[in-house]
Amino acid sequence: MSGGGHTDELLRGLRAGDRVALGRAITLIESTRPEDRSNARILLRNAASGISAARIGITGIPGVGKSTLIDALGIRLIEQGHRVAVLAIDPSSTRSGGSILGDKTRMDRLSADDNAFIRPTPTSGTLGGVARRTRETIMLCEAAGYDRILIETVGVGQSESAVDRMTDLNLLLMIGGAGDSLQGIKRGIMESADLIAITKTDGDNDQRNHRTAMDLRHAIALLPARENGLRPPVLLCSAITGKGIPELADAVEEAVQRDAASGYLARRRRDQDLWWMRSTIEEALLDSFNEHPAVRAELPNIERQVQEGTISPFDAAEALLKLSKGSRESSSRES
Ligand code: GDP
Repeated sequence: MSGGGHTDELLRGLRAGDRVALGRAITLIESTRPEDRSNARILLRNAASGISAARIGITGIPGVGKSTLIDALGIRLIEQGHRVAVLAIDPSSTRSGGSILGDKTRMDRLSADDNAFIRPTPTSGTLGGVARRTRETIMLCEAAGYDRILIETVGVGQSESAVDRMTDLNLLLMIGGAGDSLQGIKRGIMESADLIAITKTDGDNDQRNHRTAMDLRHAIALLPARENGLRPPVLLCSAITGKGIPELADAVEEAVQRDAASGYLARRRRDQDLWWMRSTIEEALLDSFNEHPAVRAELPNIERQVQEGTISPFDAAEALLKLSKGSRESSSRES
């Protein structure tokens, strides 16, 4: 891709809310080619939007009903005048090429709606890389006028902290289950929930879900509060019948307004920005270490010596770090 003119054009398209331009802008930030990276940075720098978007994480184990609920909740938000973008972070896809969240578009009503934008999960890269691109994609969606960003992730433990670094609030989805109110959900995920919804509260599940809600409320009282001093309320809903969906949408909106008014939201975003700065630096340093020709040449050798016990891990690390600080030109890289 060529230089500044191209990003100007993309930016104009973005600002006009053009979905094709948004798709192309996301493809640009997902590219690993150096010239695309630099264009992506220019684009992101200029894309910062003034709109007050809400970034909402939606987590839950596979099959809990995330996409069905996002479809229902998204439509509700659109009815209230919002524009909705749905993004996903799926650590399974980065490891295996397969995806727990699934590649199919499962949100029938949303995908047919002009006020919704759904971006499938990026399927390559490390979790850190995928998370950073998702963070950047949020900014692009906001520049394109999407003011409700739903970020879907599977609650299996690796991705929730990355999601917590980019959301304003997190919704944890659960289903009713006999006595097992935590359902294999890791404590960390419970602790980063701002709202909990027990979905599929319809038909035969109804009573059981109400019991689970009571169990959960007791369990939550024992957990530490979120940084805003609050513990998550437990709501009941059904994405199929629509029962409880308006109340869930209202609870999300109220939480967003409350955290904005108290100053918590601004503080949270500032802390997140600092974290992204540090993690971007760490990632870049690690990449540059791993790609250094002298390190690449010596690494297998030194690793073998560590395994054989002929050099201590600390001396080995120091030797490699020293190599990584040496000039790249003096090494034997062809270029
Ligand atoms: P995800 O893997 O978390 O995205 O879950 P899906 O949204 O794909 O839903 C998994 C299954 O649960 C599907 O067969 C859905 O039809 C079903 N499902 C989702 N929401 C509800 C609901 O509110 N009530 C009922 N009865 N079934 C639901």
